[in-house]
Amino acid sequence: MPDPLIGKVFDEFPDESEWDAIVIGSGPNGLIAAAYLAKAGVKVALVERRYEIGGGLATEEILFPGYSSNMHAVYHMMVDYMPVIQDFDLDNHALMWTKPNAQTGMVFEDGTSLLMARMVEDTKDSITKFSFKDAVAFGKLIRRWRKIVDEILGPATYIPPMSPLDISMAMQRTAVGQEMLELVEQSPLEIITNNFENDKVRAFLLYTSCMWGLDPRETGIGMFVALLLQRFGMNKCYCDGGSHKFAASLAREVVGNGGTIVDAAEVTNIIMEGGRVAGVQIAEGRTLRSKVVISTLDPHTTFLDLVGPENLPADLKESVEGWQYDKWSFYTLHIATKEPPKYKCDDNWINDAFMNIVGIEGLDQLLAHWDNVIGGSIDFNNFGGHATCESLFDPHLVHSPYGGYVSFFQMHAPYEIEGGWDQKGKELEEAILTKWQKAAPNMTRENIIKVGHETPVGIELRLPNMRRGAIKHGDYKPIQLGCFRPNQDCSSSATPVEGLYVCGASNYPGGMVLGGPGYLGANKVAEDLGVTKWWKPTKAMEKYIRTYLE
Ligand SMILES: Cc1cc2nc3c(=O)[nH]c(=O)nc-3n(C[C@H](O)[C@H](O)[C@H](O)COP(=O)(O)OP(=O)(O)OC[C@H]3O[C@@H](n4cnc5c(N)ncnc54)[C@H](O)[C@@H]3O)c2cc1C
Repeated sequence: MPDPLIGKVFDEFPDESEWDAIVIGSGPNGLIAAAYLAKAGVKVALVERRYEIGGGLATEEILFPGYSSNMHAVYHMMVDYMPVIQDFDLDNHALMWTKPNAQTGMVFEDGTSLLMARMVEDTKDSITKFSFKDAVAFGKLIRRWRKIVDEILGPATYIPPMSPLDISMAMQRTAVGQEMLELVEQSPLEIITNNFENDKVRAFLLYTSCMWGLDPRETGIGMFVALLLQRFGMNKCYCDGGSHKFAASLAREVVGNGGTIVDAAEVTNIIMEGGRVAGVQIAEGRTLRSKVVISTLDPHTTFLDLVGPENLPADLKESVEGWQYDKWSFYTLHIATKEPPKYKCDDNWINDAFMNIVGIEGLDQLLAHWDNVIGGSIDFNNFGGHATCESLFDPHLVHSPYGGYVSFFQMHAPYEIEGGWDQKGKELEEAILTKWQKAAPNMTRENIIKVGHETPVGIELRLPNMRRGAIKHGDYKPIQLGCFRPNQDCSSSATPVEGLYVCGASNYPGGMVLGGPGYLGANKVAEDLGVTKWWKPTKAMEKYIRTYLE
């Protein structure tokens, strides 16, 4: 009974409640899954451990009040393809994207530089400074790879995975498909060294292709070179106002369509009854009951911690135990400065670039740096990373009377490091500032307003589902990709545990803000619940289905 004086204030959310579906985790994938289902009329609760929704889409004042930083995702490479943006017409929430023309730069110690721009011809001009042959090769390849991305990799991100055999057969249908298969067979290192001759150009293209955690020497993942150079190297977007605005737009769709978001509510247990899921328990003691639970967390948390090994078929338990997290994590130095970094180099456009790689001089050095990181160390005399001045694209991030700019320098880093991150984190801050200042001489102590950093351990503390700082919730290698992500039983979102679905970054198509797992999860749950889908595939997806699947 509502209290006659204060109404329903204290019993708004009951100790026990009933839902059609519960989504665990409000990162991009959880938000997307919940938004589609809510709009389909499913009574959805989206349950989030943190105070803020968004997961990897966080924009927070971590340096000082008045200075907001994008803590994690800042480069959005699939904006042109993600169905969710058009399906919900997210522009209605004033969601806007900037796609800078100067996309990815690399600055060398001798003052030379390389720049990938949106325009192929601009990129070729930059590569010509080092090798005319490489510039021509880049132009030819990137145009062919654009077709592979537009016709195959882009749309396939939002279509359920197929077995390697089915992919091979489907791709035989077109010349573009056959070229994609040839790429798959090669390692990123082979693709780059076979097609380009200049050492700096090779280092630049390999960094851009593998920076999200591809093993440069691994075969079976070559298609990512086409995807990453085309989408990430040349077409990434910035979310105006900070990445959190993407999360906020999606959250408004969840709530606007009748869903509920329960924040500051850690799921501690997935309730099992009669061999199937029956709901979740949250840390404060409430129970949310539902026959459908959709987890966007990593496999260990979902299956071993929340469902419990005793409730899993033996082969599923074994495959979850064998899941491997990303081969490296990220260390990010966030910084507020009076002036933006001004790079001392031969191309003024570098100062406008969305991202600049600093500290890598050639291919062998890059490979040695990555080998160190994978081996659990950082050579302070030989490391590199990438930097972005977010304020250049987004003045809204600074609301301080002192003014200034926010930027970050990010580098690959091991989860476990000798000496521990408490000590190494501070030392690395100094080493990065010294390195950055060499490339951008105005990054002096006088210019700096405030510095802070997030280590791999810090990532895991904020988002425990990014175990070992795993930004993609799991490594990218052939046996953890496609229909094997996270395993053959669960890659299409449904799992052998009745009523349990999975659709976070550890599911096909994978990590980063692709919007794929959440979209596919919503599709699968809608089909299984017999709910009418109010959305239909994008035109690019329809074309892909016609060409390769029908
Ligand atoms: C430093 C860094 C930089 C990155 N940069 C980029 C980039 O530039 N571009 C890009 O595309 N991607 C980037 N990523 C990767 C990207 O952020 C992730 O791959 C993506 O956010 C995964 O989305 P998700 O929805 O699957 O999971 P997450 O975003 O991880 O969301 C999971 C959510 O679940 C919540 N949660 C965890 N445990 C529980 C629980 N028990 N109960 C309830 N809720 C729980 C978490 O708090 C979180 O909100 C970056 C990541 C990091 C860490």
